[in-house]
Amino acid sequence: MSVVIEVEGLSKTFGNVRAVSDVGFTVTAGEVFGFLGPNGAGKSTTIRLLLGLYHATSGRVSVLGRDPTRDVVAIHRRVGYLPGELALYPKLTGRQHLDFAARVRGEVDHAYRDRLVDRFSAELDRPVRTLSKGNRQKIGLVLAFMHRPDLLILDEPTAGLDPLLQEEFARLVRETVAEGRTVFLSSHELDEVQRVVDRLAIIKDGKIVVTDTVEGLRRAAPRTVEFTFAHPIDPAAFAELDGVHVLSSADGRVRLALTGPAGPALRVAADLDALDVTARSADLDELFLTYYREHPTEREVRDAR
Ligand code: ADP
Repeated sequence: MSVVIEVEGLSKTFGNVRAVSDVGFTVTAGEVFGFLGPNGAGKSTTIRLLLGLYHATSGRVSVLGRDPTRDVVAIHRRVGYLPGELALYPKLTGRQHLDFAARVRGEVDHAYRDRLVDRFSAELDRPVRTLSKGNRQKIGLVLAFMHRPDLLILDEPTAGLDPLLQEEFARLVRETVAEGRTVFLSSHELDEVQRVVDRLAIIKDGKIVVTDTVEGLRRAAPRTVEFTFAHPIDPAAFAELDGVHVLSSADGRVRLALTGPAGPALRVAADLDALDVTARSADLDELFLTYYREHPTEREVRDAR
C-alpha cells in the first residue's frame, strides 16, 4: 500500500503559540482520511504544512513522496486543495476562475470539468461576489477536483451545501478513491467527516488525541447505562471501576458512561439490589465530546444528541 502523506513529530509554533505539537499520521493511497477537531485545534496549520506554505518548527512531512517545502510546484500540480476560507477574485465569474486555473495547470480534462460543473449545478456566469457562500463553494470544489489530482486536501468542503449536494459530494469522493486517488478531509463537524471517511484522526490543542477507523471509534464509544435503586446510593463503587464514568447520581438513579465491559458495573448494581436498568448503544457524538473535552458533563452529553 503506497504512502501518500507521512507526518512525523510535526510541530509549528508562532511566537509562543504552539499551533501544532508532535503530530504524526500516515495516509495511504485510495483512502479517505478525516482530520477532525474544534476551531483553533491546529487543522489549518497542519494543512499549510502539508502544502509547503509553512516551514515546520520541527518534524517531518512527506506528501506524494516529496518534501512539500522543496517541491512546491510539483506538489501543487498533483494536489487539489479546497481552503476553508476560499479566496476568489470578486469581479471574475466562475468560468473565468476555471479557465485561469486550467491555463496554469495545463492538463485539464475539459469533459470531466464540465461534468463536475453539471453535478454541482455550479453558476459560472455571474461575478463570484454576487454568489452565495454555497455557490462559491461549488466553484471551489470544481477547482479542487477538475485536474483529477492524486491527492485532494479539502478543508470543510461541504460548508454551505444543501443536503442533496452533500450527497453528491460524498459520491464524488467515493469515485475518486475508487480510482486509487486519495482524499484528506478536514472539518470541525463530525457529521461532515463520518459519512465519508475510512479512518480519522482527532486533533485537540495541537495534538492528535486518537487515530482510528470510524468503526473502531464506534466500538470504543461510550454506552450510557442508567440504574434505578429503591434508595439513594453512593456512586463511589461505580466511579472506581475502569472504563466507567459517573454522569449523574441523584434520588436512587445513577447514569454511567461505559467504555469497557459491562460486567463489573452490572455486578456492583446487582450487589446494591438495582430495581431497573436501561442502556443506550454507543454514539459517536458522545465519543467525539469525550475527546473534545476530557470529562463531558451530563448536560454536554445530552446537548450533543
Ligand atoms: P484550526 O484550523 O483547527 O481552526 P489553526 O491551525 O488555524 O486551527 O490554529 C491553531 C492555533 O494556532 C490557534 O491557536 C491559532 O490562533 C494559532 N495560529 C494559527 N495561525 C497562526 C499565525 N499565523 N500566527 C499566530 N498564531 C496562529
